[in-house]
Amino acid sequence: MISLVPTAIERVDTGDPAVCLLVKRDDRSAAPYGGNKARKLARILVDARAAGARRLVTIGPAGSHHVLATTVHGRRAGLEVAAVLVPQPRTDHAVDNLRAGLAQGLEAHAARHAALVPLHVLRLLGASTRFVTAGGSSVPGSAGYVDGARELAAQLAASGAPAPDEVVVALGSGGTAAGLLVGLAEARLPTRVVAVRVVPAPFGSRISVLALALRLARRLGIRTSWRELAGRLVVDASWLGPGYGVPSGREGPAHAVAAAHGLALDPAYTAKTLAAALDRASRAPGLRVLYWHTLSSAPMAPLLVDSPSEDELPAALRALFR
Ligand SMILES: *Cc1c(COP(=O)(O)O)cnc(C)c1O
Repeated sequence: MISLVPTAIERVDTGDPAVCLLVKRDDRSAAPYGGNKARKLARILVDARAAGARRLVTIGPAGSHHVLATTVHGRRAGLEVAAVLVPQPRTDHAVDNLRAGLAQGLEAHAARHAALVPLHVLRLLGASTRFVTAGGSSVPGSAGYVDGARELAAQLAASGAPAPDEVVVALGSGGTAAGLLVGLAEARLPTRVVAVRVVPAPFGSRISVLALALRLARRLGIRTSWRELAGRLVVDASWLGPGYGVPSGREGPAHAVAAAHGLALDPAYTAKTLAAALDRASRAPGLRVLYWHTLSSAPMAPLLVDSPSEDELPAALRALFR
C-alpha cells in the first residue's frame, strides 16, 4: 500500500574531519509524505486491512506528524481517518501540519485537555474501526523500524562499511527506538541506540521502550532478552529543554550543520536530536554516530492545496495552538 524506498546513508560535514557523523535519510522514506511515520504506517495499514477496517481513529497533538501521515496514507488506502487532537505550542510548522491534514480528508476532533481524550475516542469507535496508538507505536507500527534496521544492515553488508557505534534517534512515543533496538539485535550489529527524549516524563521512559521492544521481538519471533536490549539502549533526556515542541536553546550548531547539508529540522523532534548526535560525535572523534533523520522532507505545498487558512480553522481547533 505504501511503497517505501530504501533511504540513503550520507556523511555529514561538520567542519572537523575527525568527527564521524552520518545521516540516514528517512525524510525521503515515502511519497507523498515520508519520515518515520510512513515506515510505521506501511505495517499498520497492512494490519488494518487484514482486520477488515474501513476507518482509522487515532490521537495526537494538534500539529502531529503522525496524524498527518495517517491521513495522507490512510486516505490513499481508501480508509476514513479521524483523530482526537490535544493542545500543543503554536509553531507555523505545527499549524501547517493540521491544515494539510484537513485538506487531505482528516476528520479532526479537538480535546481541550488530554484527560478528555478517552471520552472522545470512545465516541468515535465503531464497527470496522481500527484504533491507531499515539505515534503509531503499536507492535505492528514499531515493526516498521525493525524493517528500518534490516535495511541498514543490508546496506552495510552491501557496502562493506563498518557498523555505526551508535544510532541516535528522537524518542517520542517510542516505537522508532524500540523497532531499531530489536532490528539491530536481530542483525547482531554492535550498535547502540541512543534515544533522545523530546517528550516530558512519564512519556518516553526507558522501561516503556524496553517493554515495547520485548513484546515486538516476541511477536516477530526474534530471539533476544530484556538484558540484551537494555544493554543496547541509552535514553538521553538532557535535550528536552522547557518541553515538547519548545526549543531548548541548544539547537544552534545543529541548525548550522543541517542548513549546510540541506536538511530541514522541526522544533519538536529533529532539531533537538541532531543537536544531541552532533554533540556526541564531536566529543568523541572517531566514534561512528548515525543520526536517523525522521522528519518528512516531502514538499508540503501539494498537501496544502485547498486547505483552510489558520483563520478559517474551526475555533475549537484553532484554540489547540497555545
Ligand atoms: C513521531 C516523530 C518522532 C518520534 O518517533 P516515536 O516513534 O514516536 O518515538 C521523531 N521524529 C519525528 C519527526 C516524528 O514525527
